[in-house]
Amino acid sequence: MKLRLAGAQVVTMDAKRRVVKGDVVVEGSRIRSVEGGGGRGRTGKVFDCSGLVIIPGLIQAHIHLCQTLFRGLADDLPLEQWLAKRIWPLEAAHTEESVYWSAMLGAAELLLGGTTAILDMETVRHTGAAFAALEAIGIRATAGKCLMDAPSAPAGLKETTEAALQEAADLCAKWHGAAQGRLRWCYAPRFVPSCTGPLLRAVSDLTARAGATIHTHAAETPLELQIVKQETGQDEISYLDAVGISGPRAALAHCVWVDEEGIRRLARQQTNVVHCPSSNLKLGSGIAPVPEMLAAGCRVSLGADGAPCNNRLDAFEEMRLAALIQKPRLGSDALPAAQVLELATLGGARALGLEAEIGSIEPGKLADLVVLDLTGPHVVPEDADIVSRLVYGARASDVRHVIVDGRVVVRDGKLKTAKVEEIRREANKWAGTLRTRAGV
Ligand SMILES: [Zn+2]
Repeated sequence: MKLRLAGAQVVTMDAKRRVVKGDVVVEGSRIRSVEGGGGRGRTGKVFDCSGLVIIPGLIQAHIHLCQTLFRGLADDLPLEQWLAKRIWPLEAAHTEESVYWSAMLGAAELLLGGTTAILDMETVRHTGAAFAALEAIGIRATAGKCLMDAPSAPAGLKETTEAALQEAADLCAKWHGAAQGRLRWCYAPRFVPSCTGPLLRAVSDLTARAGATIHTHAAETPLELQIVKQETGQDEISYLDAVGISGPRAALAHCVWVDEEGIRRLARQQTNVVHCPSSNLKLGSGIAPVPEMLAAGCRVSLGADGAPCNNRLDAFEEMRLAALIQKPRLGSDALPAAQVLELATLGGARALGLEAEIGSIEPGKLADLVVLDLTGPHVVPEDADIVSRLVYGARASDVRHVIVDGRVVVRDGKLKTAKVEEIRREANKWAGTLRTRAGV
């Protein structure tokens, strides 16, 4: 099956950062060609994209789909209270069905807003239901069950080390590589204070053996650093490195409170940092030193985190904020638009271990594409720099079509793979149920 997206302005994000006027041809799940000038072969299906802009699907490397139903239920709290009073009780209240609809709601918002791939951390139980939702709705996802085995972990979510690892390995065997490779597995220890050293070491070994990814949080608040120092005697980034949670297979969300030595270590190990600007601002966590990390050679990507600390899952919002929040600190030339667009595409691909497959529009790569209509007043004039228009001007509502793995999942702004009305109804119902069950 061939699909020709004809006559668009194509922002390729290839090595030369070419912007081409022409056609993108998709065959099966992959990009067959990018044809400047366009209009040659007319076989297969043709989408007229004249006047539209095609970008690589945006990638968010830190998302909690299981929290989408908690949107608006945990506002204006610092991280520790946000977790203990709201998020952990609500996660513990989840059922198979509520996890399924939470994932559907989040994935619908993500796809409609131009995010085609995510690194997702689910809760402790019912992760199979989240995978079933991801399989049905058609987003590309690397997801994993949250692991919490430390004595201080909340009672409703705590598991023994053995039980946590056994279920994770079973789910990995079932879902890693499912849906023709669109779904992948990550081992997802929540963060150092809720995990034992033996669990973290085992995660490192299991990840390497399965060719999977590690997804965790690090250095989000000064209190977290203090706890880790008390418990391990080490700085958090060096402790993680010591237990094998580092390197290109690992993605650490936040890294707000890292010093120069930590940054050098992250760069040396090529550990992925996932910057979550909205979440860091809303929880009052701070501003991650992203320009310093990039200058040191760190791998950086972006993510919206979960709905209760954002409250949107909007990649355009994260791009714009990532650029803006550095400027009062370092000057208006800090983190320019072109660099931010790299974080949301190529950086995300690296965090998912998929840099050879996604993140740019090039022949042979997987066809994860977003077609934007940039004719609204907020993105005019059209001859302004295209990257500036994408990072500083564009919104999720400018998304017209979305293709994942060669399949059209959003057409003319409408989700094709699920009924949004049904998702809304079930999400409202299950959010109410969870509030009652959790008593929040
Ligand atoms: Zn998070």
